Amino acid sequence: MIYSKLFAPSTEVMAVVKADAYGHGAVEVCRKLMAIGVELFAVSNIDEAIELRKKDITGEILVLGYTSIECVDELYRYGITQTLLSEEYAEKIKNAGLDIKCQFAIDTGMNRIGLNAADENTCEEIIRKYADELNLNGIFTHLCVADSDSFENKEYTQKQVSLFETVAERVSDLKLRYIHCMNSAGGLFCKLPKITNCIRLGIIMYGLKPDTSNILPDGIEPVLSWKSVVSMVKQISCGESIGYGRTFFAEKTMWIATIPTGYADGYRRDLSNKGYVLLHGYKAPIVGRICMDQMMVDVTVIKEAGQDVNVGDEVVLIGKSGEYQITADDMGEMIGTIGYEIVCGISKRVPRKY
Ligand SMILES: *Cc1c(COP(=O)(O)O)cnc(C)c1O
Repeated sequence: MIYSKLFAPSTEVMAVVKADAYGHGAVEVCRKLMAIGVELFAVSNIDEAIELRKKDITGEILVLGYTSIECVDELYRYGITQTLLSEEYAEKIKNAGLDIKCQFAIDTGMNRIGLNAADENTCEEIIRKYADELNLNGIFTHLCVADSDSFENKEYTQKQVSLFETVAERVSDLKLRYIHCMNSAGGLFCKLPKITNCIRLGIIMYGLKPDTSNILPDGIEPVLSWKSVVSMVKQISCGESIGYGRTFFAEKTMWIATIPTGYADGYRRDLSNKGYVLLHGYKAPIVGRICMDQMMVDVTVIKEAGQDVNVGDEVVLIGKSGEYQITADDMGEMIGTIGYEIVCGISKRVPRKY
């Protein structure tokens, strides 16, 4: 919790554990977080929330996105807090007639969900109306360029934060329990507004960067590593090709190791002939196309260094080996995406160990 030390001690952490805790396994992550005192959680949909409740995750669970009105009974039964996306949606929740906990999303410039903060009067009016008619326990907004420290983007973030502050101040007499606007990136370049009392942390909690350009505070390390094994080792001759589509040709005699991990495990196919894995403290480049369930890597350098490569040897896909480390952020950068997408993409068939 190094990062939360940047904020006032009274600031509560809402742990964002949507998408199975960014692929890390939501139930286990929540158990660990509960053990260190976290009582607020956020997920993307009601199924994720119910899964947590069924595994005895207590505290506040906020669904950040849309829930079909047909599911209101379950929201109520499991004590789940629902985001109100619009006035129209709030009205539907109200008409269900159940005492469902809710928080209003406030749109300050992302144009995704929420009441339009720029129209302060209407925004205030709607919040007041539903604070009366619903079990409203919070308001929040979401920042869309908080991960960037360019002048223009910092200005935009500041504008978003100010709009949110204005709305929050106008309804401060309602004494709403949860007022929040910061995601992981928010705390990197922006001061937490006084009126807020909680921060929503996702990616940084897992030790990854909101944007590849960011530098994380010292001591924040990725919590996930992803390992596989060598399933076969062989030598190939100059001129031979490797894999589907024959996209790689050996220009000399090479040692090749096969690894039983492929794109069905969430190992991105666009890393074909681009990415690398770590083996015995060496980088082993991926050669040929990544298959659904397997891939091939070049271990020539390792063999030439006099090291054995054997079936069953550990292969690090994400993590550390010797002096090298490969992170989900590195992998994302290689193929023009973000670490978020890499870890969220590790598929269910990869067993998680804690
Ligand atoms: C995903 C999400 C977060 C967490 O974002 P990070 O960048 O992972 O910290 C926070 N708030 C909302 C509304 C989100 O959708």
